[in-house]
Amino acid sequence: MERGDAATRVVVLGSTGSIGRSALDVIAAGGAPGLRAHGLSAHSSWERLAEQARSASPRFVALTDDGPIAEVRSALRGTGVEVLSGRDGVLRMVTDEATDRVLDAIVGAAGLEGAWAALEAGKTVALANKETLVVAGPLVMDLARRRGSTLLPVDSEHSAIFQALKSGGTREVKRVVLTSSGGPFRGKTRAQLRDVTPEMALKHPTWSMGPKITIDSATLMNKALEVIEARWLFDLDPDRIEVVIHPESTIHSMVEFVDGSVIAQLSPPDMRLPIQYALTYPDRHPCPGPRLDLTRPSALHFEPPDRETFPALDLAYEVMRRGGTAGAALNAANEVAVGRFLAGEIGFLDIPRACRAALDHHEYDPRPTLDLLWKVDARARLEAQRWTP
Ligand code: NAD
Ligand code: MG
Repeated sequence: MERGDAATRVVVLGSTGSIGRSALDVIAAGGAPGLRAHGLSAHSSWERLAEQARSASPRFVALTDDGPIAEVRSALRGTGVEVLSGRDGVLRMVTDEATDRVLDAIVGAAGLEGAWAALEAGKTVALANKETLVVAGPLVMDLARRRGSTLLPVDSEHSAIFQALKSGGTREVKRVVLTSSGGPFRGKTRAQLRDVTPEMALKHPTWSMGPKITIDSATLMNKALEVIEARWLFDLDPDRIEVVIHPESTIHSMVEFVDGSVIAQLSPPDMRLPIQYALTYPDRHPCPGPRLDLTRPSALHFEPPDRETFPALDLAYEVMRRGGTAGAALNAANEVAVGRFLAGEIGFLDIPRACRAALDHHEYDPRPTLDLLWKVDARARLEAQRWTP
């Protein structure tokens, strides 16, 4: 739509993941008629990437872990899909002249580069990769402003806040309230969480997602990252951002205005709705996926988060207060700690401890460049890799 013809050409970074697959489902469903898959990227799941390319017929695909590139080429021979490799392949797709929107659904800080290049090229970015804003929020928002590019939230909480914010002016906002399901360990004590296994932590009560964000949801680090994401995306003072536990995951977040009015966004927990909204904004279209059924008896519950059992939330407020390099250090340490927990090397309660250590030991800088943020990221990864309980 953005070039005057009927199509919106979308590059889906991380198309083989949970968000990426939901995005391709939205595009294939055709409720939003103009959406086309223009480019797809995956890290190593080359078979799934090739299969997706065969059914979505994008202009190109990119495999960032160059390993099995020959296999992808041979699987797509004769289809007309161009096969690119490595990070350059991603950059080529997001900056392509015909690309209208980029959905960044890569997991971890690895998603920052593609979002950055897309914003720099003036593209509209639908951001699922919250780590981009945790690592480099102020720099990313400044880049978008300078280039006149648009950053739209995909994270369900931020999509909800984005929608609710349309009910009033910026100065009329009293606070935003992010909802959290509480994860699989809501109501548990620290003593009960000492021997939690990856299998237990990977069972999320309401959302089906990739492994990293599922563990983040169990430690509440996901909510911590989201609080930081909201701080930069909506330019909110940290003391205006709150978290409430809402086990049903029906209200995706709320905005309270100065007069006491609270505006919430409700829908069943399914990412296809916020994904589609970010791909079609400002338009709305019929969306695949479940709809809210209010004819069945149901209730919504709310409770404050248990910050003693889940210290990740306090880390978020500290990181927001400090700004600078703190977000990059926290995010990198968490990525490594989650990996080590999944590999059985450290315990569940060690994840925030390793993050705490990386935050304390990193060389803080209040006004980092992007280069420095990558150095902090690399050092915090080393620190978290060596960390012992
Ligand atoms: P996932 O693990 O299911 O998929 C990740 C995708 O990124 C895959 O396509 C993978 O090939 C690719 N990838 C992995 N490492 C990469 C690297 N180093 N370089 C390039 N590509 C790489 O993850 P997901 O659950 O879909 O989450 C993706 C992002 O969206 C995360 O930032 C997550 O926090 C965010 N998010 C996810 C959900 C959800 O419901 N899954 C909801 C809100 C936000
Ligand atoms: Mg979320």
